[in-house]
Amino acid sequence: VRRNRGETEFHQAVQEVLESIGPALDKHPEYAEHKIVERICEPERMVTFRVPWEDDRGEVHVNRGFRVEFNSALGPYKGGLRFHPSVYQGIVKFLGFEQIFKNALTGLPIGGGKGGADFDPKGRSDREIMRFCQSFMTELHRHIGEHTDVPAGDIGVGGREIGYLFGQYKRITNRYETGVLTGKHLSFGGAEVRTEATGYGCAYFVREMLAARGESFEGKQVVVSGSGNVATYGMEKVHQLGGTVVACSDSTGYVYDENGIDVGLVKQIKEVERERISAYADRRPGSKFVERGAVWEVPCQVAMPSATQNELTAEDAATLIANGCMAVGEGANMPATPEAIQVFREAGVAFGPGKAANAGGVATSALEMQQNASRETWSFERTERRLEAIMKDLHDRCYATAEEYGVPGDYVAGANIAGFTSVADTTLRLGLI
Ligand code: NDP
Repeated sequence: VRRNRGETEFHQAVQEVLESIGPALDKHPEYAEHKIVERICEPERMVTFRVPWEDDRGEVHVNRGFRVEFNSALGPYKGGLRFHPSVYQGIVKFLGFEQIFKNALTGLPIGGGKGGADFDPKGRSDREIMRFCQSFMTELHRHIGEHTDVPAGDIGVGGREIGYLFGQYKRITNRYETGVLTGKHLSFGGAEVRTEATGYGCAYFVREMLAARGESFEGKQVVVSGSGNVATYGMEKVHQLGGTVVACSDSTGYVYDENGIDVGLVKQIKEVERERISAYADRRPGSKFVERGAVWEVPCQVAMPSATQNELTAEDAATLIANGCMAVGEGANMPATPEAIQVFREAGVAFGPGKAANAGGVATSALEMQQNASRETWSFERTERRLEAIMKDLHDRCYATAEEYGVPGDYVAGANIAGFTSVADTTLRLGLI
């Protein structure tokens, strides 16, 4: 705690993992002997850098950029970049730490990393976004590479930003190294399904949790928070799987639509017009916008928090349960507070933690890396079949690990133990690294 003073979110993420892995530490005394926990909790490397840029009026701004290269036991560091004013070292480290185990769970050869900047993209013109991305990459390029560290998107970083980042990387390195970033447009090395992957994957994970209880999405009402990349494609897949999403949100409030959220309209508003979600209610008869309301007050049987960390409290969890919620899949990273998770656990709600439920995004990024390395392009159908199979395997691995370690049905413990032991065993094989 002393060494990572003030990094609240990082402490929260570490605590959640440490609380679950007791049975693994008991079974493997060699982990303690070789100080595996201490080694995994310390990033291999972390860079912090200045990002100066000029706005459209010629005013100069200075932001702070970060990249944490947390763990490369299983492969090159891999994890997204977040542009949001709340970004600081504690957020980047919590995300990087989670990423280690998430990536291990996919079974693909990727280590854990994360990065970003305390830059607020809201209200910025396209040219300003481009200049910011170029300045950010002017420093970041020294630290990344297809065999070293491969960033992707996260909050505030989508296809447009990845394009500007790749353009600058290419320009200053003189290398058309497509494998250095994932989430690229199809025209310069991107992969089919990457845009959809995190949301689709989360819906597949929830489908598996429901199936394990003899249930399905058919006829279920679903509430999703956020209306960004993860939320949008989570909603799309839920509808394809037979559920009905009745509410989604952004940081201004939520929209309720009893006929089912029109995902095409959400895409138009958020992806094309870059508008607020309230615009949905203006255009869709029968729907309503609730300003600053908590989306969790809308009755549902399945909840998929897909906006940001700590957005679902113990009180929200109690409301969801009182309204009949039976399954929760975390599309975002750490959206439920520890107290909320405890409430779900005590009520017997199936709870899929982010590091398992949202791993479809990074898994598909690893497929994008595979395609870049072999200069191949896979079809949408082939890639989606791989994603579906990966999410099913991932669910089954968490489920089986929880059983093996005596906590059946506890996906938090299953995910943490399965992810941790993969990294720990490999670390032992690699010596004192
Ligand atoms: P986007 O930027 O596309 O969307 C984020 C959404 O969450 C927006 O609707 C945004 O609303 C809302 N949001 C963000 N911050 C807050 C806040 N402080 N309070 C309320 N709402 C907020 O990001 P993504 O969809 O990519 O990411 C969402 C979550 O999923 C994050 O936790 C991310 O780490 C996680 N994730 C993303 C992956 C990916 O592939 N993109 C992969 C795995 C996890 P507003 O526009 O009003 O800010």
